[in-house]
This record gives sequence, C-alpha cells and structure tokens, in this order.
Amino acid sequence: MAQQQPGPKRPRNQGAWGFLWWMFLGVLLLWNYFVFAPHANPQEPIPYSVFLAQVRAGNVSAVRIAGDQITGTFVKPYAEPAALVARISALSQQPAPSPKPTAAPKATAFQTTFPTTQGDPHLIALLEQHHVIADVSSTTTPWFVQLLVTWLPMLLFLGLFLWLLSSLGRNQSGVMSSFGRIRAKRYVPLMKPVTFDDVAGADAAKSELQEEVDFLREPKKYRAIGARIPRGVLLVGAPGTGKTLLARAVAGEAGVPFLSLNASEFVEMFVGVGASRVRDLFRQAREIAPAIVFIDELDAVGRRRGAGVGTVNDEREQTLNQLLAELDGFDPRYDIIILAATNRPDVLDPALLRPGRFDRQVVVDLPDRPGREAILQIHTREITLGPDVDLAAVAAATIGLSGAELANLCNEAALVAARNNRTAVTQADFWEANDKIRLGAAHPRLIDPQERKVVAYHESGHTVVAWLTPGADAVQKVTIVPRGRALGQTEQIPAEDRHNVSRGYLEARLAVLLGGRTAEEIALGDISTGAENDLMEATSLARRMVTRWGMGEIGLLAFHADEQQPFLGYEMTQGRDYSEATAARIDGDVERLLAQAHERVRSLLTKERSRLDTLAATLLREETVDAPELERILGAATLPKPDVVQEV
Ligand code: ADP
Ligand code: MG
Ligand code: ZN
Repeated sequence: MAQQQPGPKRPRNQGAWGFLWWMFLGVLLLWNYFVFAPHANPQEPIPYSVFLAQVRAGNVSAVRIAGDQITGTFVKPYAEPAALVARISALSQQPAPSPKPTAAPKATAFQTTFPTTQGDPHLIALLEQHHVIADVSSTTTPWFVQLLVTWLPMLLFLGLFLWLLSSLGRNQSGVMSSFGRIRAKRYVPLMKPVTFDDVAGADAAKSELQEEVDFLREPKKYRAIGARIPRGVLLVGAPGTGKTLLARAVAGEAGVPFLSLNASEFVEMFVGVGASRVRDLFRQAREIAPAIVFIDELDAVGRRRGAGVGTVNDEREQTLNQLLAELDGFDPRYDIIILAATNRPDVLDPALLRPGRFDRQVVVDLPDRPGREAILQIHTREITLGPDVDLAAVAAATIGLSGAELANLCNEAALVAARNNRTAVTQADFWEANDKIRLGAAHPRLIDPQERKVVAYHESGHTVVAWLTPGADAVQKVTIVPRGRALGQTEQIPAEDRHNVSRGYLEARLAVLLGGRTAEEIALGDISTGAENDLMEATSLARRMVTRWGMGEIGLLAFHADEQQPFLGYEMTQGRDYSEATAARIDGDVERLLAQAHERVRSLLTKERSRLDTLAATLLREETVDAPELERILGAATLPKPDVVQEV
C-alpha cells in the first residue's frame, strides 16, 4: 500500500547534547576510578600489638595519626613472620594466603588501626620515649571529600532530573518529550496509493470529496477566484463503510502526504499530553503542506463537553479545546485539508461542527446492491473463483452488510474453500461463509427429539405466516440446523433495499415475528423460551410504530424516547418529553398492536394447521427446506422476488 515513514525530524541540536552526555559520563567514570579503585598500597597493614612492639624495638622512625588510623615508616624493612600471618588470617576467618605460609615481603612502611574505644594513653609517651616523630590530625578524610561522597550522587540525580524537565519544557530531544509528540503515521504516495478505484459503491461520497482533491491538486485555481474551500470535512457513516479508506483515497488521488491519527491516541495515560499532540500534529502538517490531516474516530475526543454522569474528563476537554483552537487558527494560506471520521456524529460537540471547522459532512452510506457487487469484485480480485460463483446473487443476499463485512465475507469464503481442499471458491462456499458470519458456525450436535420438535414447529410457524401473509418478505430457506445461538432459522429476503416501508409491511413483519411462538401454542399446547428474541424485536418494532411513525391510536405524535440512547448522561438531564399519562397510552397502543397481530396469526395458523404440520414433519426429516420445496409443500406464494436475507 503506502509507505510509512518514521516519525518527526530529530531536532538539530541533538548532536551537541549527545556529546555533552558522553563527556559527562566519561568524567563520572574517571572520578569513580580514583575514589574507589584499589591503589597499590606500599603500606603493610600490621596488628596494633606488632606496631607497639616495633616501636619498643626502635624500628619505627615516624608516625602519622589521623583519627583511628596510624601510618608510619620503619627504620629497617620489616617482614611479618609467617606464623603470625597465619594466625591473623585465622582470626579474620579467611583462608591463609598459601598452604605453606612463607615469609611476607619486607615492608618499609606500615599502617594500623588505633583502638579509639579504649584509647591508648601511653602511646604518645611511648613514641616520645623512642624518639619517633609523631604527627597528629583529627580525621582521616578531609571534610570536603566526605561531603562529596555523601552528596554528590544526590546532586547528580537532581541535575539529571532538572535537565530532563527543562528539555521537556523546550520540547526538544529528551526522553520525556516524546510522550507529548504526535505519532501520526505519514503515508507518502510512493508505492501503490489507494485511489477512488479501490473504493466501490460510495459514489455520492466520492463526488463530494472530488472537490477537495481538486483543491489539493490546483489550489491556485480556487484562490484566484476567491473561493474558500471547506477545510474540515467530516466523514460520517456506520463502522466499516470505508471512511478510513476514502480518506486515504483522497490523499492518493491528490498525491499529497497523509497524516493520520486515531483520535484515541490523543488521550493516553499521561495527563496533558493530548493538547500537545494536537499542536504537534498541526505543526507537522504545516511543515509538509500541501497535506491531508486525517483524524479517525473523532468522537473519541470530540464528544460534547459537559456530557456524562459524574466524571468530567478534563484531559479530553483540553484536547478538544486545543483542537478547536488549531482549527480556528489555521492559516488559510496553508494547503491543508482536515478530514475526520466518525460513526457517532450525534455525540460530537456542536463547536466542532460550526462553520469554519468541520462544516462539511460527507455521509458514507451502507452500500446498495450494485455497490455491494462492486465491493465483492474488488475483494475477490486475489481470490480464485469457481465458474459457478455469482457475485450478483451474493450481493443481492447481503443487504445491510458494510464494505468491511463484505471484504470479510470474501475472505471467509476463501477460508471455507481452502479448509475443504478446493482450489477455487464455489458459490456454496459464499453461502456457508454468509451463514457463518451472520449466525456463527453450524453446530453438529443433535438436540433431543422433543427440542427438535419445538424448533421445527417454531420455524414452520414463521415460515407459514410469511408464506401466506401478503406483503411479507419472501422466505428463501428454513432450517433447524443450530447455528451460533440460534436453534433454527427462517431466512427471508425483502424485494429491494427498503428505505421507506408501509404500515401493511410492518404489520406483516409483526405477524411473522409472532408466528414462531403462536405455532408452538397451537401445535404443542405449550410454549418455550425460544421466542425471546422474536418477542423483543416485535415489541421494539411495535413501539417504534407508535412513537415514531404515528401508527398507533395515540395519533400523529412523534416522541424522541429512544431505546438507543447515544450518551446517557446528556439524555438523562434532558428527561422524557411526555407525561406519565402519555407514556401509559403509548404502552397501551404497543400492547394493542401486538395483541392484534397475535390474533391474526392464531386464526391463520389454526386454519392452516395441516400445512404447518406437513412443513414441521418435513423439517424434522430434512433439517433444511429451501424455496422450491416450500412451494411444493405450501403451494405458490404470491410474493416479490428475493433480494435480501433477514433472520426471524
Ligand atoms: P471505516 O473507517 O468506515 O470503519 P474502513 O475504511 O476502515 O471502514 O474499511 C475497512 C475495510 O473494509 C477497508 O479496508 C476495505 O477493505 C473494506 N471496505 C469498506 N468499504 C469499502 C468500499 N466501499 N470499497 C471497497 N472496500 C471497502
Ligand atoms: Mg475507520
Ligand atoms: Zn423465532
């Protein structure tokens, strides 16, 4: 794809600092050596008693007493007798220097330790008596040496620390400062850049972005006429719709560097880093302009300020403020375009969306059928496809899948084929991959006979109702092979990608959803927990019919009450915009819609009991029944042609 370059430039004075460092280390080492290295010691250490004996023998010419240390010189060179050496070694519990002690070499000077605890009041007298020159000083080490030894390490640490701090402050090369530096990935269009050809289906978004590409290619043309190109463009769309891909394609088309950063990287564990990263990102962009700055997942920093229960994330707010400041203070002479992507435009701080900041929004939709086919084509370029593969059929059956999911589907199909030791991917591999992605892997386990019967009737109920209710989506396949968390499933395919649905369709959908449970009631006289998801979906659908689409008795009122609250804290402060009495009426309407649907399904299935039984029996025998066979069992269904899969 694109080449990735190492981060920012190294500061110019890096070399000078490095040299100082090495100097400093060298001096430290030398100092260490002189202080701690063992010096060649010409002074022979002798026991105090030996020293006294030598004084008495008149063999000591001069001594120097410093603290408890006594050093001095002999008149005649002196060698300790071997026996004495051995005894001293034994005293200090060290092995004798050699197995058979020999006489030590003769020494002209000696050193011994003065017993300070008891003192020796006679020593000076003794020395005088034997005419030894005595020089007395108070301590062994001069005060400044002691001071150095105890305080120097501390001072060094302090110095190092201050130096690090100051280098952080100047934002120069230093260990700490790199925390604050942006780690934007820089894509240079050298290798094979991503272009609009790599993005399929998002035609509306592409044509909107084309303007930005033109601007980056020929800024003069726009300047000459006095036009101001929108600098901040927000790509909005569901996850996996190709927002990141589009941003890279813009850079690829324009042939400019691309600085990309995930907004979550602004805010890491170090407080205060986010704002400096924002600053750094924009500084880098100015250095390499013309360029594209891409902030992915903008909502990670761009959330509405002051939202959230209790905790206020100061760090995030400061980062956002810095971002706002940078967007404002941006010199229009720089040819820089800022792209950002989010799948939650609703949670963004309004200040971000103000004119002059991200004032243009480009919506990246889920792909439509031709779009899906084109995406499948792109992602099967490298895959060996068998002759029976019909990507158009795959595209038709995958409504609602995003580009990323389709890419995954292609790969999954290839994996299935490889696992089965095929050299090319077949159409069946695509279906298997599709089921696997939607529902999870098929379980080979056999469920017990009673459970199978319940599932067979449940799925038959969905299928019969769908088959016989006008306006319901066509059934493509019904199965009782457990997959993922579903024990069985009825696959329906709507006629086309729907954007606007009628009340008749919604009522049919409610009926189909309740068909499973109702079949259990009628055929088995008992009910199971298997309808949990159906009931949840039916309830939520009925509630939306009442509160949003004015299909209940309460009339044409729309309420903002929503199951999916985007950010709880903010919603909670807003509260509900209708009274308790209205809430009760809404609940009544929802109940009524569900009860009516249930009644219709009951009477239908009671009437069609024989078809229900036949289908259930077939399912128990065959496990999976597809559309042609359904037609044989249930008769012709006057339904639109399949287009889309939906699970019930
Ligand atoms: P988003 O940023 O919107 O979440 P991405 O751009 O990261 O999605 O898309 C993820 C992957 O999905 C892409 O790398 C690409 O392989 C595939 N993809 C998504 N949309 C498209 C598309 N329109 N055309 C081709 N590939 C796509
Ligand atoms: Mg993305
Ligand atoms: Zn069901």
